[in-house]
Amino acid sequence: MKLPAFAYHRAESLGEAVEVLATHGGDARVLAGGQSLLPIMALRMSNPGLLVDITAAKDLQGHVFRGRDGLVASAAVTTRRLETDPETRRRHPLVSACLSRVGHAEIRNRGTVCGAVAHADPAAEAPALLLALDGAVRVASAARRRKIAAEDFFLGPYLTALDEGELVAGVEIPLLSGTAGWSIREIARRSGDFALVGVISIVDADTANRCTDARIAVFGVAGTPKRAVAVEKALLGQVLDDEVCTEAAQHAFDDIDIVGDLHGSATYRRRVGIRVVARSLAEAHARTAVRSGE
Ligand SMILES: Cc1cc2nc3c(=O)[nH]c(=O)nc-3n(C[C@H](O)[C@H](O)[C@H](O)COP(=O)(O)OP(=O)(O)OC[C@H]3O[C@@H](n4cnc5c(N)ncnc54)[C@H](O)[C@@H]3O)c2cc1C
Repeated sequence: MKLPAFAYHRAESLGEAVEVLATHGGDARVLAGGQSLLPIMALRMSNPGLLVDITAAKDLQGHVFRGRDGLVASAAVTTRRLETDPETRRRHPLVSACLSRVGHAEIRNRGTVCGAVAHADPAAEAPALLLALDGAVRVASAARRRKIAAEDFFLGPYLTALDEGELVAGVEIPLLSGTAGWSIREIARRSGDFALVGVISIVDADTANRCTDARIAVFGVAGTPKRAVAVEKALLGQVLDDEVCTEAAQHAFDDIDIVGDLHGSATYRRRVGIRVVARSLAEAHARTAVRSGE
């Protein structure tokens, strides 16, 4: 299908982008990689009068490792660039692993991490990654700059805490401790499809193999990514082994209203999801320093 008519503005900077957004109000939309927005427009599910292209904005190109903020990626950084960056692979392999699950390489070549966060698809990897790591979203408008914690940012399917005229200028992706283990696992109908059930697990243990930290985010099962709080509680303080992980995984959806659709019922997602969480926990545990013998 052809796109509906729209005006186009190519912003050279963040400041220019937010000024144009402020001038045009709700009729303007940010254009990043276009991998979600353009299909939606072609399907007539969105009909903005103006697209503000931020891909050439000079001050939105970089990503950097910065102290307590961790890995900070600006809005024009493509998924593929972050995924394949050698320093990211070395210092934050969970990020590379999560991003390698986003669609196909062609999509990741154009799509952006911040675009995925702003788009807030419930089955997307990047929002779940931010939630699991207690990350944050850097927001900018013509009037102000602010930072929103990931747990407060995702409000519903394709719904975020962004106000009119605001854009995602960057994301802060905290680093893991040197001893933590991690895992991302998902079930999808085909390779490259959105996950029917996905889970990101981060587990840490002391030298006695007792769990000191557990952060589990599930996605593709509800209107937003969710922390599996009951699993985290069940693991903390336990001496970790596969049996403990399997037992804790039974609680994965205790506090979550699973949403079914034509791709998989809520019952299916729960049943499969518990197994995916169990395997993910075991994998994360195996990667902890105490288990890998580092
Ligand atoms: C076949 C296919 C398979 C896919 N599979 C997956 C998958 O498995 N997992 C996954 O996560 N994604 C998947 N995607 C989506 C893809 O990752 C998109 O790139 C991503 O969702 C949006 O990023 P984008 O940069 O392309 O944003 P765009 O398409 O340009 O924008 C998407 C929306 O976000 C808004 N937006 C974009 N950037 C900003 C910003 N900085 N600030 C404010 N608003 C902004 C736009 O206005 C628009 O409303 C898939 C896409 C396709 C076509």
